[in-house]
Formats: sequence, structure tokens, C-alpha cells
Amino acid sequence: MSLDKITNPPQLRHWLGDMEADYIYTLGVAGERFFKEIKENGRIMGAKCTCCNKIYVPPRMYCEKCFSKLEKWVDLGKKGIIHTFTVATIDVDGNKLEKPVIYALIKFEGACGGIIHKIGETTPEKVKIDMKVEAIFKPSHERKASINDIQHFKPTA
Ligand SMILES: [Zn+2]
Repeated sequence: MSLDKITNPPQLRHWLGDMEADYIYTLGVAGERFFKEIKENGRIMGAKCTCCNKIYVPPRMYCEKCFSKLEKWVDLGKKGIIHTFTVATIDVDGNKLEKPVIYALIKFEGACGGIIHKIGETTPEKVKIDMKVEAIFKPSHERKASINDIQHFKPTA
């Protein structure tokens, strides 16, 4: 491989293709375990830094604050709070949805980051920032190790 500076871009070798079709997103080691825990145990896990006590959700391999390797995983439980939310009334193609869908960033106590997911079993008028919500998982035989193994989050009483 040459490390010479490229001064003539048209000389670069290239392949024609469709970005959407050719692009494969991999979960990474921490992501795979995160979804496996959701599928097999119905647990939302975070990775905890034993040096600075920061907890990350979704989990990652290294602490962004102190660069320690994150090997300790903690169960965050099923309950979180709505950090922010939006209400979708049209789909990705611009067609009106039969009923609005509420999407929220859900934070978990003591953890940084969060999960973006749907809020169900309520209406947009009732949803508020800081509202307490709980993850509702699909039945275990329907889970596929994806974020959609969580059906939605619903407000807790
Ligand atoms: Zn750390």
C-alpha cells in the first residue's frame, strides 16, 4: 500500500455501487452481547467503568472518559425516563400514518447514553419529558436479538 499523498482523485481506483445495498453495519462485540442479553434474558445491560464508575448504555468496549476497557456489565432494569421525544405522523415515504407513533430517547438511572424507542399504550397528548417508562419485551420465542425485541416502552403507573 502506498502512503503517497493523492493529488489526482480521478486516478483512484473505484467501484460503482449502491451505497445502501453495499453497506453492512456490524454491531461490534459489545453490541452483539447487548442484543443477546435482550433476546435471551430480557435484560437491558450497561457497561460500567470500574475506574470512574461511568455506566454506558448501549454498552461499549472502552470508557470515553478514562479509556479503561469496560468488562463489567450491569443490569439496568426495565425502567427508564423519557429524556426527549417526538411524534411521527408520516412514514419515511411521506404517507400519513394510520395513527401517530411516539419516539423517545429513554435514559436509565445512573447511566449515560440511552435507547431510542417507541412509546406505547398511551397517546401523544399524555407523553411528557421526565415521564417514567418501562420496557415491554416481546415473548421470548419472537425475539431476534434486535432492539425490536423490545415491543415498546410504556408509561408506568
Ligand atoms: Zn472510565
